[in-house]
Amino acid sequence: MAEELTGRTALVTGAGSGIGRACARRLAAAGARVLAVDRNGETAGKVAAETGGLAVVADLSDPGFVDALPDEPVDIVVNNAGFQHVAPIQDFPPEVFRAIMKVMAEAPFLIARRYLPGMYGRRWGRFVNISSVHGLRASPYKSAYVAAKHALEGLSKVIALEGAEHGVTSTCVCPGYVRTELVESQIDDQARAHGIARERVVEDIMLRPAAIKRLIEPEEVAELVAYLCGPRGDFITGVSLPMDGGWTAR
Ligand code: NAD
Repeated sequence: MAEELTGRTALVTGAGSGIGRACARRLAAAGARVLAVDRNGETAGKVAAETGGLAVVADLSDPGFVDALPDEPVDIVVNNAGFQHVAPIQDFPPEVFRAIMKVMAEAPFLIARRYLPGMYGRRWGRFVNISSVHGLRASPYKSAYVAAKHALEGLSKVIALEGAEHGVTSTCVCPGYVRTELVESQIDDQARAHGIARERVVEDIMLRPAAIKRLIEPEEVAELVAYLCGPRGDFITGVSLPMDGGWTAR
């Protein structure tokens, strides 16, 4: 698979950490030029330096971010930036709900609106949307996250339908719990809240619905993303691929 993305440019949001960083590294290893978008300039800079790409500092919760994105042609978009907030609906701050929707649903729409015409002109494009098992299933106390991921699933299908005749595909990748900063901090929070050991949080709470009882590594997600971006992904569009250790088989 080495070098099969040579000549392609991949814009990865949330590229400074976790799954985004793993995707940036993997796509660069396949030959792509990486545009590493993150609100954290330091981590985006590190990933850009490491991958020989360009750091783009942008806060996706501000819809004006789209005007500051690079003007160069983009062939691959990995919509990955996101964050979590856990609270029952009656206590969920509306401004946090709105911010999650902006970063995880509206920003991917604005990015598609910005780069689809160029992809159509070149008759090739890939959208890989990092959804979640929560794009397919709900959990209590995650109203904004579940709503935003379900919205992203819908957007991905529409991009697939509109883009098909122009050589553009769009898919969702739906991981269960991945070993990233986002999950490490949730483990700490839950261990504190329940007064239990970190291992118990992982085994008894996070992995309870999954058949395979381990966290996924970001590199495993990035491998599927690279597959979808390469030539073997040509006919895979409009679908969501769970990478959830059997969670949604139930
Ligand atoms: P992470 O916290 O390690 O990385 C998220 C990155 O997004 C960070 O670099 C952060 O700075 C960036 N980001 C957040 N808000 C931003 C904003 N407003 N503007 C620009 N950048 C912003 O998280 P992760 O676990 O790698 O998650 C990446 C994606 O994968 C998210 O969409 C998440 O919902 C999804 N996901 C994660 C898991 C998991 O278990 N970790 C499971 C399923 C799906």
